[in-house]
Amino acid sequence: MGRRLMLRFYNTLTRKKDVFQPIEEGKARLYSCGLTVYDYAHIGNLRAYVFVDLLRRWLEYRGYDVKHVMNLTDVDDKTILGMQEQGVSLKQYTQRYIDAFLDDLQMLNIKKAKIMPKATEHVDEMVRIVEVLMEKGYGYRGEDGSIYYDISKFKNYGKLSKMKIKKLKAGARVKVDEYDKEKASDFALWKAWDSKDGSVFWRTKLGKGRPGWHIECSAMSMKYLGETLDIHTGGVDNMFPHHENEIAQSEAITGKRFVNYWMHNEHLLIKGERMGKSLKNFYTLQDLVQTGHNPVAVRYFLLSTHYRKQFSFSFEGLEAAKNALQRLYDFMERLDEVKNGKGSKEIDALVEKTRKEFEDAMDDDLDISRTLAAVFNLVRDVNTLIDEEKLGQGGAEKVKEFMMNIDQVLSILDGFWKQKEAKLSKDIEELIEKREKARKARDWKTADAIRNELREKGIVLQDTPEGVKWKKEHV
Ligand SMILES: [Zn+2]
Repeated sequence: MGRRLMLRFYNTLTRKKDVFQPIEEGKARLYSCGLTVYDYAHIGNLRAYVFVDLLRRWLEYRGYDVKHVMNLTDVDDKTILGMQEQGVSLKQYTQRYIDAFLDDLQMLNIKKAKIMPKATEHVDEMVRIVEVLMEKGYGYRGEDGSIYYDISKFKNYGKLSKMKIKKLKAGARVKVDEYDKEKASDFALWKAWDSKDGSVFWRTKLGKGRPGWHIECSAMSMKYLGETLDIHTGGVDNMFPHHENEIAQSEAITGKRFVNYWMHNEHLLIKGERMGKSLKNFYTLQDLVQTGHNPVAVRYFLLSTHYRKQFSFSFEGLEAAKNALQRLYDFMERLDEVKNGKGSKEIDALVEKTRKEFEDAMDDDLDISRTLAAVFNLVRDVNTLIDEEKLGQGGAEKVKEFMMNIDQVLSILDGFWKQKEAKLSKDIEELIEKREKARKARDWKTADAIRNELREKGIVLQDTPEGVKWKKEHV
């Protein structure tokens, strides 16, 4: 328990690293703003989810039972615009991007959130919240029939983004979902239908219309995680207005703090600019995979820079990530090949030292640079021990076990197993072919020798009418 107090996260709310203290001992309520499914995610978007995955896996490594909720924004200004351009229903339009997004998460080894609520399936909850906000005097109806949040009523408005509210013009209103700090004003909770919305509307107690974007996250997060969340994540661009408005809505209703730790990831840049749809300077994961890049290398690339640092995408960077992964795969392979029985006292101390460095770095706001440095120092030191024939099989097993243990957090070694399996199959096929040739030449000695060699690798051959088959014996 004591060790857990060492876990610290940079909290946007306090602008410093705070010790993580969950609401409920041993549990973490985590909410992440999911994708707005109006287009394919680009790797800049996906950076946010690789970050959340690392966070979640770290909490789990530290023994927390993480209840992770990630919403899907499947109705907002952008989705409606997109569906109308394509002349399909909202559901048809968004489903394609939801499917593609789920595929992306899987390819990047991102654990799926326990609950992934869709905004369109939670309109009742949103309506109820808006009703309460109106009863409490925070919500009012504008001349256009839409319902707005009166930010002058919420005394802490601006506490997350640290904006100066005094400059605001009284009564200025904004109906669009996205706007910038200079335009801070009353925002739409409920948007009365207008012709631009076409077929997208709900008939509710609030009238015919649709929810504003910000109310969606307040409704879905509180429904599944309660009135106060431990951690809320999102891209830094969502801090204002989206998260500021989520706070205003949720805290006005409950009178309680909405989120204890706000964590924001920085942008991925490309040639010095923010990767984004509007600038058309982006790559999707599919773009990269279809040109032969390993998605796990993309994961490593996105993972290996601290989440609060901006950094640039480049093919050189992706190549470097691939090489770093290959070094780890080669290392695992080498550990497998250690055969001598010599023991080494050094190795226990080395593994424990690395484990401590790894854990301390991750506890310190997921300091991935130090984390990976610890791992690669171990790789270097163990390679030296192998070179000097100072590593025995027991020591190699210990190192492998450690690597597999930390891979629960990093989740980058699965490519190694795949590579190993492919290589194993190739080697075996070659040996079987050699044995067949020997048999045809009635060279029984060679054929038996190959059979024995394979048996030593745990491969059992079966001569069947369809030819030779092999299987791996599981010990
Ligand atoms: Zn959100």
